[in-house]
Amino acid sequence: AQLDATVARDQGVNAFLEITYDLALKTAAETDRLRAAGAKLGPLAGVPVAFKDNLNMVGSHTTCGSRMLQYFDSPYTATCVQRLIDAGATPLGKTNMDEFAFGSSTESSHFGPTHNPWETNHVPGGSSGGSAAAVAAGEATVALGSDTGGSIRQPASFCGVVGLKPTYGAVSRYGVVAFGSSLDQVGPMARSVEDVALVMNALTGAGKDPRDTTSQDVPVDFLEHLEDPIEGRRVGVVPAMMEAEGLSPEMRHAMYEARCALEDQGAELVEVDLPSLAAAISAYYVIGPCEAFSNLARFDGVRYGYQEPGCATLAEQTSLSRAHGFGAEAKRRQLLGAYLLASGVYDEYYMPALEARTLITEDYRAAFEQCDVLLMPVVPRTAFWHGEMSNPTDMYLSDLFTISSNIAGNGSISVPLGLGRDTKMPISAQLQAAPFRDRTLLTFARALE
Ligand code: GLN
Repeated sequence: AQLDATVARDQGVNAFLEITYDLALKTAAETDRLRAAGAKLGPLAGVPVAFKDNLNMVGSHTTCGSRMLQYFDSPYTATCVQRLIDAGATPLGKTNMDEFAFGSSTESSHFGPTHNPWETNHVPGGSSGGSAAAVAAGEATVALGSDTGGSIRQPASFCGVVGLKPTYGAVSRYGVVAFGSSLDQVGPMARSVEDVALVMNALTGAGKDPRDTTSQDVPVDFLEHLEDPIEGRRVGVVPAMMEAEGLSPEMRHAMYEARCALEDQGAELVEVDLPSLAAAISAYYVIGPCEAFSNLARFDGVRYGYQEPGCATLAEQTSLSRAHGFGAEAKRRQLLGAYLLASGVYDEYYMPALEARTLITEDYRAAFEQCDVLLMPVVPRTAFWHGEMSNPTDMYLSDLFTISSNIAGNGSISVPLGLGRDTKMPISAQLQAAPFRDRTLLTFARALE
């Protein structure tokens, strides 16, 4: 019945690229069997989940929204996916995304755009737009997305769901198709903070993953302290962010209200400064494309995915497979990365970007000495129309508030605040905390819910 409902609701939304009937029925039958035998059920028993299509899951394709991987069968299952299945979750299928996670609107998917369930002529955000839309439309209870520069938090905010980007290293990246390996992090999207906590327990409960050397133990119960009062605790605000010029008036108003809501519960507001944040966009659009260029070099028309037929030489096969397998944005990022890493250019851009990264990380360290969490917008405005952001640079600039926590690696969450007073579209606030203080994020997010 859940599968039928999901398929029916997905008409007009296009959140799913693939529904994994067999897997879903198999895991559901296993749950029924355990229940009938009186065995202990997992904490996510029977919960319908959806996975972004850059997460490998045996029994499904992993297309990354690209023609390059259109027919690619997952050779193994990502640890994050496996852990949810081990907790009893029912895998419904794979969700649409910007090609290889490059983008903020899910419009660059080779398989057509996903529509925002609130207003289908609007984008759901991206790159995890399919996951956000699936949760918002009630097609899945929870979904996993990946966030390299905001791709969980921004679509969560456009679709009015909760989206957590955990601290880098909290969730294994094994089996996740890499975009920017030093920035990528997988995390949950759900309709409540409590559901996010449940999924985090499943993702981290078994400890670090030996298959991802950057993964770390997170020995906390995310459900614990969820209802703790925030009285007397400190919330940092960066005045320049809350009053940023590009912020829509309704967004500014919503941020003001979020700030008051926290104050009403006894939190103490402190003003903090993140002086190097101005360099975040430039640093991200250097580091991200450089890492993407090197990660996507594996798609050579030989080992994976699309292979141009009838080529006379290997060089021709590689070049035509890449030319016809990748879409425009994927090519743009890789060309940019190739250029930035060229000798002579490297010193001028890549090194300064790494220096900016250190400064931004230092800024955060200093800020979190003064406060428990930072409150800031997720995006400058609510969901835009399909086709509205046709200029890539405008799209890049809209990542202003999300990318810094990927650069510094700390956790951040997008919490719905209701509908914007002007656009009547979902509006959210972002909270950020020091590395591995993701549970603190959930406590404050709960207070805003
Ligand atoms: N919008 C950002 C980009 O285009 C972030 C993408 C992401 O987090 N995967 O790079």
